[in-house]
Amino acid sequence: MLNSHVKFHSTSGKRLVLIVDDEQINREMLRHIVEQEFSTITASNGSEALDIIREKADFLSLVLLDLRMPELDGFEVMRKMKEDDNLSQIPIIVLTSDESAEVDCLKLGASDFITKPFSVPEVILTRMQKTIELYEDRTIIQSTEREELTGLFTKQYFYRYADQFDKFHPELVMDAVYLDINHFHLINELHGRNTGDAVLLHLSSYLKTLREKTNCIVSRFDADKFFVYIEHGKVEYSKVIEDLNRHFEEFRDQHVRVRCGIYMRSDKALSIETRFDRAIQASHAIKNNYSRFIAYYDASLHEDTIYADRLINEIDEAIATNQFYLNFQPKYNVQGEEPVLTSAEVLVRWEHPELGRISPGMFIPIFEKNGLIQRLDFHIWEVALEAAGRWKRELGLEIPLSVNISRIDLYSNALIDYLIEKLMRNNLKRENLYLEITESAYMDDAEQLIEVVDQLRSEGFKIEMDDFGSGYSSLNMLADVSVDVLKMDMRFIQNIKSNKKQETMIKLVMDIAKYLGIHVIAEGVEDKVQVDFLKSVGCDIIQGYYFSKPLPEDDFVQLLMEQKK
Ligand code: C2E
Ligand code: MG
Ligand code: MG
Repeated sequence: MLNSHVKFHSTSGKRLVLIVDDEQINREMLRHIVEQEFSTITASNGSEALDIIREKADFLSLVLLDLRMPELDGFEVMRKMKEDDNLSQIPIIVLTSDESAEVDCLKLGASDFITKPFSVPEVILTRMQKTIELYEDRTIIQSTEREELTGLFTKQYFYRYADQFDKFHPELVMDAVYLDINHFHLINELHGRNTGDAVLLHLSSYLKTLREKTNCIVSRFDADKFFVYIEHGKVEYSKVIEDLNRHFEEFRDQHVRVRCGIYMRSDKALSIETRFDRAIQASHAIKNNYSRFIAYYDASLHEDTIYADRLINEIDEAIATNQFYLNFQPKYNVQGEEPVLTSAEVLVRWEHPELGRISPGMFIPIFEKNGLIQRLDFHIWEVALEAAGRWKRELGLEIPLSVNISRIDLYSNALIDYLIEKLMRNNLKRENLYLEITESAYMDDAEQLIEVVDQLRSEGFKIEMDDFGSGYSSLNMLADVSVDVLKMDMRFIQNIKSNKKQETMIKLVMDIAKYLGIHVIAEGVEDKVQVDFLKSVGCDIIQGYYFSKPLPEDDFVQLLMEQKK
């Protein structure tokens, strides 16, 4: 993977130079001169040199090469290096007493010459340094080394550097650590970008101190996401996180919390990218757990991958044998004295014959990743509309349902026709179907989404923006997309502990929504305090355990019948 020559500082701070000369006295003299500035290895003939060059290609900074040698001479070594992409990147300085050979050497890729007999050490060292600098600059320019805000390594550079580090220190046991800030987007949204930047700088300054203490490698690779590659046993992670969260004392009001996924004793047989993916995976396991801040990668997470593969393989059979069924969670209008059941959200359930009940929080993301969700969703919509048709026909009950639409579903050309056909077949109207599209979808490909949403709305469908507040959107985004309803998830807001901020946030959303003429639904509402507050700020429709959990069809129909009476 690494075929260019990256500037690398070993822990000794010295670059590695190979000295090739068949005469021992020359090798020793050069080694003596060079050793103050560089690490050295030596070879006494061309083929020995090539072996070493091939083996150490990734962290060899320079070759000092004698021309006249038995077996394989210097010319032949240069020719072989030039042919090999990986080796042609390594600079060569030729050691010679024969000026007439210079042109040939230059043609073969030599960068400079040092004349024998060796004279002034300073001249030799300076030539070596210049040559190395020149080569490193060239490759460094190709990859941006540092990230602008924090001055830490970029992701690409970090991966290369860490990879390099491993080659240099195969004996070290290394941990891959991933850090990010809980609900960073809310900090940006509530306190402004400058505060957001200040938080990031604060975290990076902590990591720089850690780097000084432990010699670890640090990168900010995206928004609020950081990587640390650190020798195992250098720190105690619980202490680091404790310390870190104390370090954020000055941002007390912003409730900054750092979350951390760690892949300990990372397996060097895996690529550096894969190892950090595992650290990220570990941290995702505690994403919505507000009491845990550190998660370790373990084999069970690997088993998760096996589990995921199994679910993927079995989806068709599961659809065919009706292992998927529906729950309905009522939405209540709370404007009047008594709450009124006005609609319901359709939520899928999976009862697996061997694995038991599997939560949608588990299988939906798996199916979303590979596009299979489309097959499941089309099936769910069909079953949901059949149910609604049946209630209307047999019981005279008419109630709008909302179904969840995944981002991937929006790319399907068949989407609109399919929905219209199923509505017609069941004698239902378009306004009786609400489509919930999760907020994060709007981030991925806003343009495509806006187009499909507009099309759906012009066909008469109502669009709800689901999980508002959970993603990385900003309130501004609302001006660009036209939706009918915002679903604000109370569970995201609970995470900001100070009540004032929560209330301000909700009021702000209510104001903007009112200004734009959008309805707001609160979901995940679990207690009376929340209900009262929501009513007081004009949020009229509420969904959540406080009123009802998602219900099986029979229970839901019974509830509808009772209300009808
Ligand atoms: P969602 O669309 O935001 O659905 C609301 C989730 O919150 C449901 O979880 C519901 O059971 C839960 N919930 C409702 N009220 C409360 C409450 O007061 N407290 C708490 N703690 N939770 C509450 P569920 O059923 O596990 O579904 C999770 C997610 O899976 C859904 O989030 C939705 O994004 C997705 N999903 C569910 N069914 C489908 C489907 O048929 N198709 C697609 N594409 N996604 C679905
Ligand atoms: Mg939903
Ligand atoms: Mg939701």
